[in-house]
Amino acid sequence: MMDVIAGAFGTLKTASDIAQGLLALKTDTAVSTKALELNRVIADVQQQLFTAQTDYATVLRRVQDLEAQIVQFKDWQHEKQRYQLYELAPATLVYRVKPDMQNGEPVHDLCPNCYQDGIKSILQNNGYVKSHDSLTCPRCQTVLLLPPSKTGFIEISPAPDAWGNPRGF
Ligand SMILES: [Zn+2]
Repeated sequence: MMDVIAGAFGTLKTASDIAQGLLALKTDTAVSTKALELNRVIADVQQQLFTAQTDYATVLRRVQDLEAQIVQFKDWQHEKQRYQLYELAPATLVYRVKPDMQNGEPVHDLCPNCYQDGIKSILQNNGYVKSHDSLTCPRCQTVLLLPPSKTGFIEISPAPDAWGNPRGF
């Protein structure tokens, strides 16, 4: 289609050159008037073709974008099957990779918001927030708080003595 439009531009340019040649022949006034009219028509057609060419390029880009989105959608439909809802904490759900579909990857969780948008975004450690360990989504910035530890205390064993023997209390 682009070749056809480019060819039409070339043909119209030739017609315009011919019309210019008519003016140079110094014919009578009627022929000159007609040649000017022909040039205006040709200019209009050129403008229309230019617009059509621009519109076509826009449509072509849109088609390419949509094709890329279809490929991405098909990939996501396959990839999302690897994950299932997992209750990270009471009323805090994420999508965790199924044990039999890890494919050598470590256990990881996906952001539930991004999952619903069809985008795979792996939750990352976000440090300590409001007395909780937390995870965050690098894409949508959602922060998920993990439950506090069960006892709130860390178990400490007595350090061995200087000879490496366990100490008793
Ligand atoms: Zn997210």
